[in-house]
Amino acid sequence: MSADARSAPHSIGSAVASASSTTSSPSAAEPRLLAGSPIAAEIRAGLSRDFAAFKERHGYAPTLAIVLVGADAPSAVYLQQILRTCAKVGVLGRLVEIGSDVTPDAVCTEIEKLNDDPAVAGIIVQMPLPAHIPLATVIDSIDPAKDIDGIHPRNAGLLALGYDGFLPATAQASVEILKRSGIEIAGKRVVVVGRSNVVGKPASLLLLREHGTVTICHSKTRDLSRQTREAEILIVAAGKAGLITGDMLSPGAVVVDVGINVVGDTLLGDVDFESARGVVSAITPVPGGVGPLTNAILLTHLLAAATAQAERATAKRAPGTRDD
Ligand code: NAP
Repeated sequence: MSADARSAPHSIGSAVASASSTTSSPSAAEPRLLAGSPIAAEIRAGLSRDFAAFKERHGYAPTLAIVLVGADAPSAVYLQQILRTCAKVGVLGRLVEIGSDVTPDAVCTEIEKLNDDPAVAGIIVQMPLPAHIPLATVIDSIDPAKDIDGIHPRNAGLLALGYDGFLPATAQASVEILKRSGIEIAGKRVVVVGRSNVVGKPASLLLLREHGTVTICHSKTRDLSRQTREAEILIVAAGKAGLITGDMLSPGAVVVDVGINVVGDTLLGDVDFESARGVVSAITPVPGGVGPLTNAILLTHLLAAATAQAERATAKRAPGTRDD
């Protein structure tokens, strides 16, 4: 295990620790809205200070490299968001655009150049990749110390074992929004709908780490509503607009809707908000829930990666330090 991977945080840094619970003020009949934007704004404010201090100490602003293979309209929207967030907090965003007609080897070569570039502290690869580029090959080529979205098998393994490593930012955001809103997870019956490597599975492991009693559902789960009705806390990351309706929820449940579905010109979650609102005690809105928090959390990982790399470089330069 590299020193960087070991020293990366499993809980997010000081910037997040200072963010407080933020909710709207619902009427008696309305559920509490768990809004991510104000929490994200607090995290970004902390990050701006922390990246300014990093630049002062080390003499450069770290770079986040975003690898985009082929053109994909939803990716383009996301990329503009993350690049704007980088600019706001003093991070250099570098978009590495690769045409879709490349070989898997060519993609890995580009990533290896970023691995070797000391200015680049973190690398994310925009999904989905073109069908002929194997995801596992690309993921394996990322240096785990720069894998700030926790997709490399080393970071995924660290999470599974409960060790420190980079966490997938969306999964972390879905748990962090509960914690920052003061919602107790320990001992609760938690149901997660979705088992992807980037959201459902890591979110389940994080909820287990928080001592929830976790059930994971997926497309082959029989009688999904029987499972979801058991949930005191329900996390939904299925990518199916309106999959979960009010009749599938237990009264007073807390719901985190990770889904982002573009339907016509509207963004919809995986939970049918209108039918859920009369049943649940708290729910994340879409948009404005988990989404805004994800980018802010990703940049807390970038800060941790940049700091670990800069300190290692400083230690290597120190007189009498052996480079072994
Ligand atoms: P994904 O890779 O497509 O995984 C979807 C998961 O949902 C799979 O495990 C699938 O089961 C399960 N599923 C699909 N239909 C289901 C059904 N009818 N009943 C039960 N389970 C079902 O998607 P993802 O990358 O995890 O993303 C999930 C959602 O989160 C998407 O809407 C995505 O846009 C959104 N997202 C949001 C953010 C953010 O920042 N808020 C970031 C990333 C993703 P199988 O494994 O059996 O196929």
